[in-house]
Amino acid sequence: MYQEAIKKYVEQHGHQRIRLKAVLFDMDGVLFNSMPYHAKAWNKTMSQFGFNLSEEEAYLHEGRTGAGTINIVSQRERGHDATEEEIQRIYQAKSEEFNRYPEAERMPGALEVLLKIKATGLTAMVVTGSGQRSLLDRLNHHFPNIFQKELMVTAFDVKYGKPNPEPYLMALQKGDFLPHEAIVIENAPLGVEAGAAAGIFTIAVNTGPMPDHVLTDAGANLLFPSMPAFNEAWENLYAILQQS
Ligand code: MG
Repeated sequence: MYQEAIKKYVEQHGHQRIRLKAVLFDMDGVLFNSMPYHAKAWNKTMSQFGFNLSEEEAYLHEGRTGAGTINIVSQRERGHDATEEEIQRIYQAKSEEFNRYPEAERMPGALEVLLKIKATGLTAMVVTGSGQRSLLDRLNHHFPNIFQKELMVTAFDVKYGKPNPEPYLMALQKGDFLPHEAIVIENAPLGVEAGAAAGIFTIAVNTGPMPDHVLTDAGANLLFPSMPAFNEAWENLYAILQQS
């Protein structure tokens, strides 16, 4: 199964093989189990403002800007975009609601696979649309000595964000890697789209309530049902990547 997916990718992109040097990790829903809180906060806040956005739908919008998500719902329910003021008020309320929840826990399996990746001499990078100021401290606390500050891509680095390939292209640029020298690990359809559009072999990990096809339709080259499953598969996958 891995061989087939790799073969299909290299043929499609005109590479001879994947020469793996870097693993690019999305953060929310991959490294931290934060998506249930984001989804709850979106659902609750939007209903306070008279909009319907179910928790399930919130997962589909993961990675979009706040304004982008709000406007999709506003267009659907009112036929026009939200005003700047509405967007600010709603997004502020959503952020406040999110901050009332406990701090998200590390995703099971994430540290384990990162330690293996580091031990093999590969570079691990974080590519996130999140713009929390304390991001690096949190990452260093939960994943000590894994990530380098100068190799991180966050909301502060990018103009467009996912599903635009920009964040992943920027990660390649920061690390001086080519697309076939990296793989992307993503949980959200828009993140998968971004990884695939950057020309990188993209692995989806379905840590949310979406059906798998949402992630494969978005362009995932491989799919795992959870981070522990990805961690367990890592040695085998890495061996096959090296033989490809
Ligand atoms: Mg994510």
